Amino acid sequence: MKSNRFHSVNFILWMSFMLFAAFIILITWVFQTSLLKVFMSKEAEAELDSIGSAAYSELKDKIPVENYEEQISYCIERFKGKNVAATFFILSDSGESLFPEGPVFNSVAFSEEGFRKAVNELKAAMSRGDNVEYGKRVRLGENHLAYVALLGVASGSDQAAPQQTYLYIDYSIEMLNAAMGTMRVQMIMISIIVIFLALVISALLSIKLTRPITQITRAAKQMAAGDFSVNFKGEYSYAEMDALAETLDYAKDEIGKSDQLQKEVLANVTHDLKTPLTMIKAYASMIQEISGDNPEKRAKHTQVIIDESDRLTSLVNDILNLSKIRSGMDSLKLEMLNLSEFVHTVIERFDYLVEANDYTIERNIEDELYTEADVDKLEQVVYNLIGNAVNYTGEDKRITVSLKRIEGGSIRLSVTDTGKGIPPEEIKTIWDRYYRSSETHKRPIKGTGLGLSIVKTILEKHGFDFGAESEVGKGSTFYVIFPEK
Ligand code: ADP
Repeated sequence: MKSNRFHSVNFILWMSFMLFAAFIILITWVFQTSLLKVFMSKEAEAELDSIGSAAYSELKDKIPVENYEEQISYCIERFKGKNVAATFFILSDSGESLFPEGPVFNSVAFSEEGFRKAVNELKAAMSRGDNVEYGKRVRLGENHLAYVALLGVASGSDQAAPQQTYLYIDYSIEMLNAAMGTMRVQMIMISIIVIFLALVISALLSIKLTRPITQITRAAKQMAAGDFSVNFKGEYSYAEMDALAETLDYAKDEIGKSDQLQKEVLANVTHDLKTPLTMIKAYASMIQEISGDNPEKRAKHTQVIIDESDRLTSLVNDILNLSKIRSGMDSLKLEMLNLSEFVHTVIERFDYLVEANDYTIERNIEDELYTEADVDKLEQVVYNLIGNAVNYTGEDKRITVSLKRIEGGSIRLSVTDTGKGIPPEEIKTIWDRYYRSSETHKRPIKGTGLGLSIVKTILEKHGFDFGAESEVGKGSTFYVIFPEK
């Protein structure tokens, strides 16, 4: 197993932030050191080309220089304003500076060697037949470019032979290197800041994330220890935690309820087991001591013992049944079934009640309706529903069982009684295990409090829809919807 330390939110967050920061820094450095230089250098070349050809176009008609000094000066000032890295010259091929006038060979931005190299390259390109009418860019050094274009032929000074006149632009990208140096320093600072921020943010975030988790874990432990008064809700800073707390509070309420229910149930079951046992013992003693010789009394007393034993048996059976179905030990044996005949058969099991106690079970059953189900289990369901209706129906002792085809390819079975009904707040809880409406109720069929819970478990296993509708004082209807096959 991996150590918890490396699995904690703190560590994962810290790690992610660090990796993210490292990744960003790495990318920026790669850009900074190699790509940026290439980009900028390319950009400088493109810029020089565009300045050079534009300057050539404007200056080519302004030869000889001495006739156009003012315009040339104006034009060059304009170009300089656009790009400070460029220095403009108009030179004769002997190297004499026609503009600006005077000696330039010692000026910072000019090297005669550079000019010669540029002119030679231009001439070579011309003789190769390259298209250099607008001039040519030449690289003089790593950070040094130049641009040269042949403006035309003009007379030199005084009587000398006509000379070729060149536009020569010296373009230094030294500044670019300086800028990159500054940026490198900035980069180091930014890297440090990013790492620092990543540390701080991941620490803050992890505190923010883990604090509620720790809080909730503590509350959950308390709950596990049986304290249902804990409260999960708190002032959490993010929605998911609020939702979790809400869910846990809901779960806590439900578990609390079922805990309460289990306690009641245990009391119920114990009581239910104790009563018949006490009765059995009492009547057995009675037979032994008093009624043993009196056949009439003995018969009565043994009957009580038999009844109470039956009651015990059915209680134990129900408990076993429920736990078997619940645990999945008992899988469904599905088969095709004539539901109409099946319901008639189950109703017939109540014939003794109908005859002996004046109950009326009205049948409203359509013929030839088929579904697929586990017959034995479904019998428990229908038997339980009719049994409950018998138990809880009103003075008229009337029960209606109906089976009808409804829309959507389904069949609806309903068992209706005319009893006191079920209050709305109880209609959900009646399906819970061992739930019994608080009032004690005299009924012809002994219940164990597990009937509806068994019904629910079986129907859920089948995937059938079911439910109860009731109006207090008028009666209840329990229904099951089967898919028609
Ligand atoms: P019981 O053995 O108590 O009948 P069930 O699980 O069958 O156990 O029913 C649970 C509770 O639901 C009953 O105690 C009763 O309060 C209520 N109940 C069930 N069926 C009806 C009905 N037809 N009319 C009114 N209340 C009913």
